[in-house]
Amino acid sequence: MAHTEFSSLNLSPTLLKNLASLGYHSMTPIQSKSLPAILQGKDVIAQGQTGSGKTAAFGLGLLERLNVKWFRIQTLILCPTRELADQVAKEIRKLGRTIHNIKVLTLCGGMPFGPQVGSLEHGAHIIVGTPGRIEDHLGKGTLKLDDVNLLILDEADRMLEMGFQSALDNIIGQTSKEERQTLMFSATFATSVKAIAKQYMHQPEFVKVASTHDNSSIQQHLFKADNNSHRLTVVRLLLQHYQHESTVIFCNTKIETQEVADELSDYGFSVLALHGDLEQRDRDQTLVRFVNKSISILVATDVAARGLDIESLDAVINYQIARDLEVHTHRIGRTGRAGNKGFACTIITDKEQFKLAKLEEYLQQTIDIEPLPPINLLDKPITQPMMATLQIDGGKKQKVRPGDILGALTGKEGIAGNQVGKIQIFANKSYVAIQREMLQYALKKLTQGQLKGRSFRVREI
Ligand code: AMP
Repeated sequence: MAHTEFSSLNLSPTLLKNLASLGYHSMTPIQSKSLPAILQGKDVIAQGQTGSGKTAAFGLGLLERLNVKWFRIQTLILCPTRELADQVAKEIRKLGRTIHNIKVLTLCGGMPFGPQVGSLEHGAHIIVGTPGRIEDHLGKGTLKLDDVNLLILDEADRMLEMGFQSALDNIIGQTSKEERQTLMFSATFATSVKAIAKQYMHQPEFVKVASTHDNSSIQQHLFKADNNSHRLTVVRLLLQHYQHESTVIFCNTKIETQEVADELSDYGFSVLALHGDLEQRDRDQTLVRFVNKSISILVATDVAARGLDIESLDAVINYQIARDLEVHTHRIGRTGRAGNKGFACTIITDKEQFKLAKLEEYLQQTIDIEPLPPINLLDKPITQPMMATLQIDGGKKQKVRPGDILGALTGKEGIAGNQVGKIQIFANKSYVAIQREMLQYALKKLTQGQLKGRSFRVREI
């Protein structure tokens, strides 16, 4: 019988101790299946999604392999998006927090190039980045991969979908084939993913785990739209009927994502779009506002939604069935995590009936079409989110910390602590969620008061 405790692995005592202090006792399926081979230095292909614990699977492998005293880039992790790269770096820092002087550096597009060059000059052990930016650094000679002995391709299918094939070829070509252990994680196994494995991996072990999200814990609802233009009305009815605090609507294209968000916004819904054509800054702000519950609805493409790090997504609406059924499972798996019951709606038209048959076969369950909620819901006022967001023009670089913001807001004659929501600090900006009715007062407190002994520009976004 397979052991599922971390203590059954040959991990160093400091790592084991840290895992215990993080509350990681038993391994998730992907960890128990992949870690033994990873720790033996084998190449591994693992099919696992966000939420399966895959980051810790490769993270523990890399921390065991790392020689901290050798201050060279030993591990390269490639991710499709900056949001994912940030999450991965965060998880690795967490897992490696008891290893002294370990240096993890993220190199992603959408961020200024200069400071990255500066950080690279200071050196690092682990690089987490997006293929485009890594390639730029290689081209400029600001990054060298000669000492990389562990290469990790995270969400390989997404990277290929996003057109990073040639960047990957170029990057991988600059690492040593003989020295290198290669790990690949992917939610799906398209032919292009297999081709990468064949080209760059050495007798890989293949690990597949069943979807971590037991679909039976997710209520799937199916609604019929008369035709494409009727879909939006169906979405409005569903939003008005269920009134979830946070909902993600998945669309199959960027254009449609933007159109649906614009139209819902015209109807008065609290909604933003998230897709790859937006500026990085706008994407950051959108995620901040959705995560801190100042925006109730996010209309997103599958790729963009990958970076969404939310434990409690209340509902998912599929504007259409995803083109790929594994993507469908992945979408609906974003709801119903952490033991909560998930909730997913899918809208189909007659033309998509064949997809429904495939989906039912895939999920091995029948899904009945339900009647639409009453049409008069469309006339009801639309509930606005409880929270709103203030942006402060100061962040980590200005040494702003969450406690400073909370202090300035709740200090003398301030607002109550429970009227303050999530606080997020970025390099040069911070964001704080405030209960909507207290927003103006909070804004005044922050502008008139002092934060770190100086005043920063603050505004509502
Ligand atoms: P990931 O799939 O890598 O995004 O991980 C999903 C979440 O599960 C992260 O928040 C991890 O911190 C957490 N996690 C990963 N492995 C374990 C474990 N063995 N026990 C408890 N939590 C875990």
